[in-house]
Amino acid sequence: MASATIVLFSNTLRLADNAALLAAVVTRGPVIPVYIFDEQSPKVRPLGAASKWWLLQSLKALRDDLRRCGSDLIVRSGNTTDCIAKLVAEVGATGVFLTRGYTPAAAMSEQSLHEMLEKKNVQCRRFGGHLLLEPEMVRTKTDTKYTVFTPFWRTASELIDATEPQPAPKAIPAPEHWPTSEAIDSLGLEPKPAHWAEPIAAHWQPGEVAARERLADFLDGPVQSYKQARDFPATNATSSLSPHLAFGEISPRTLWFEAKKHMAANEAIVTGGAHFLRELGWREFSAHLLFNFPNMQSHPMREQFNKFPWGEGNSDLVHAWQKGQTGFPIIDAGMRQLWQTGWMHNRVRMIAASFLVKDLLWHWHEGEAWFWDTLVDADFANNIASWQWVAGCGADASPYFRIFNPTTQGEKFDKAGEYVRRFVPELAAMPDKYIHCPSSAPEDVLELAGVTLGETYPKPIIDRKKARAAALAALASIKN
Ligand SMILES: Cc1cc2nc3c(=O)[nH]c(=O)nc-3n(C[C@H](O)[C@H](O)[C@H](O)COP(=O)(O)OP(=O)(O)OC[C@H]3O[C@@H](n4cnc5c(N)ncnc54)[C@H](O)[C@@H]3O)c2cc1C
Repeated sequence: MASATIVLFSNTLRLADNAALLAAVVTRGPVIPVYIFDEQSPKVRPLGAASKWWLLQSLKALRDDLRRCGSDLIVRSGNTTDCIAKLVAEVGATGVFLTRGYTPAAAMSEQSLHEMLEKKNVQCRRFGGHLLLEPEMVRTKTDTKYTVFTPFWRTASELIDATEPQPAPKAIPAPEHWPTSEAIDSLGLEPKPAHWAEPIAAHWQPGEVAARERLADFLDGPVQSYKQARDFPATNATSSLSPHLAFGEISPRTLWFEAKKHMAANEAIVTGGAHFLRELGWREFSAHLLFNFPNMQSHPMREQFNKFPWGEGNSDLVHAWQKGQTGFPIIDAGMRQLWQTGWMHNRVRMIAASFLVKDLLWHWHEGEAWFWDTLVDADFANNIASWQWVAGCGADASPYFRIFNPTTQGEKFDKAGEYVRRFVPELAAMPDKYIHCPSSAPEDVLELAGVTLGETYPKPIIDRKKARAAALAALASIKN
């Protein structure tokens, strides 16, 4: 009987452009696709609630796609090395193929798996695919690690493999006997309470097929105006591919290749397409930073921020921020978009994050943890790097003294208040002039719009002038 190869699907929940799967199918006998739900390996950070919802749907989609190829998905839960050791013994596997992860926890888990398999004389092969480039490939001319985005991307974008990604295999050789699998529904991924994710489900379709459709839709339309429109949250001008990328339902190489192909065929999208590809560069940059500086998951990249006097103030303020009840409409709209859809527009992420760390002076860890729990696209590297960027303590960060003013940001990027009206319906009847600053509106305007501050909509939870002065004083304290 031909010996089986286990293909481990962890951060790569797809069949196309999955080098580990393709290598197993092409070069070996029977293939056993496996997913380990691992919350036990050292340093693994349990998924947030929104990511669990996504994973539940994504695993089912992957299983159905595998079944269409004559295969199946074996699901186990526990420590990855222990689970694979058991499976290897059960099926007599002679190889384990996997896609490489780049977080510190993934690196540790892969090391432990490799050592276990080596002892058993089982081949362990690791493939790339979650990133465009392996972190070891992108170094400065003097062989150091990049910490600034622009030179990083100048070098990295020249090194990208632009060849056509591999399609999904049409058939996957099955073993004579399948090992047992836990039910996907038994992994404890369902939201509690069950109806919690209903609004999220209305917005998203997890899975590889849906990811490809979303890319096609984006390249057929919004990409053309991406450069100008991407900062305006009321428009659907961005790709919304982030959760599909986070779960590896589509490869970044597919995005790269398809965008370039469309750009070559249609001059009108060249500028938008190039800008879109540059955003993928930020995803690479975050992953490369975390890989090279694993400490950044808990420590600021700029050492002086170790001494920053983060406030330990009123937790009611953080709750107001989480619930979208700050009295600053653009922030409230963003935080409610996050809660209702599991996603928030990038511009509003920046404004809302700035408010937490600079106006409320809360530690960026607090915001990072909330986003981790509530984002369907929660990505360890992107989330940490972005929070450090906003907090001013990251490698190539926005300077701390640059504090977003939520009112002027709202007026600039949501002029007519379309986004605010969508997510903060109690302000829907406010005139454009006051939609971003209801607390400045005259009494008669408020009355006409049916708004009673402090009752139907909160008064601003802080005095921004004082908050700004406190933030700048805090910054000065670490400079001295
Ligand atoms: C405080 C904060 C936290 C964030 N947390 C996350 C997170 O957990 N997961 C996540 O994927 N992104 C995160 N981002 C980055 C960014 O907001 C999202 O990637 C983007 O909004 C996703 O929407 P999209 O797919 O429509 O992006 P598009 O504009 O269509 O961009 C295409 C892809 O490029 C990547 N990308 C775009 N912008 C960035 C960026 N600034 N940094 C890194 N990658 C980027 C994403 O993979 C995205 O899907 C965060 C940003 C901030 C300010």
